[in-house]
Amino acid sequence: MDRPAQPVASWAVRLKDMVSSTIRPFLSRAEWATNLPETRARCESCIQARGPAAIYKDSLKCCTFFPWLPNFMIGAIFESSLPGRSWLEERLAARAPQAVAIRGETGGEAGSGASSLAKSEAVAVPLGLFPALTYQRRWHARQPQGYGNDETLLCPHFVREGGVCGIWSQRPSTCVAFFCESSYGLAGTEFWAKFEKYVSALELALAQEALLSLGLTLPEIELSARFRPRYGAPDPHGFTGAKLQAEEARAWVEMGGDKIGFYRQCHEIVRSLAPRDGEALMGEDGAAAAEELFGALLPRLLA
Ligand code: SF4
Ligand code: SF4
Repeated sequence: MDRPAQPVASWAVRLKDMVSSTIRPFLSRAEWATNLPETRARCESCIQARGPAAIYKDSLKCCTFFPWLPNFMIGAIFESSLPGRSWLEERLAARAPQAVAIRGETGGEAGSGASSLAKSEAVAVPLGLFPALTYQRRWHARQPQGYGNDETLLCPHFVREGGVCGIWSQRPSTCVAFFCESSYGLAGTEFWAKFEKYVSALELALAQEALLSLGLTLPEIELSARFRPRYGAPDPHGFTGAKLQAEEARAWVEMGGDKIGFYRQCHEIVRSLAPRDGEALMGEDGAAAAEELFGALLPRLLA
């Protein structure tokens, strides 16, 4: 399984307006202006957490998942007043990397609250913010009913007061494209899966572009990319304990300690690239994904 069940939907706007404002200027095809209303998933009054047939806790909804966040979108959060900004600030301000993450890695003192546990398992590298391997393993080994119910898996961006996403307008494609139920049935589910694949590839291309502009070498970018989560097979790089600490520190060695400033720079660079054709940035993969999404899947939904 490459793509886990994912959190939180929005509904009924132009496809282009669903994604982060940082991504929109790179979506040049006319089809991005298509309106595709989704009326079944109602996140404000979560349909999976209310009523006698509820399967999720209302305090968690489908946010028992930790998506990766690209560098420039973190920078965009620091330009905003989104409520999720404060814990990111706290997490990234620490110059010495990851005392808490290492405790999380070794499974001991990661914190008492559910959300603090996931927060302590966030790994920050130049490409973005990632769930640590321990989180991926816990997610992979969860009980079947754990999704939507296991508090220790709660996304660190979730704000308990009010039960909302703290980075909503900058949430990544994984979350944007998740509809627990689609108005278009299976065809809709398939469409949103490809939508996620497309936007996710664009997010990665832009995050890499920012690093290249900042002078990182390909091996340095590759090192950063090794932290990307692979929920389906959560042991991709073997970074645990002291090795995780060393590798994370190494990823920053030339960057200095100002991670927040670094992510802000990434946001500035991506902003300066716009408007531009995102598919050109993604190369052949982008063209193929667009063809699948707009040539085959979207017409089925609009027919
Ligand atoms: S996508 Fe579905 S499960 Fe998730 S918050 Fe919305 S209605 Fe609830
Ligand atoms: S980023 Fe937001 S929408 Fe996505 S899982 Fe976290 S809290 Fe939920």
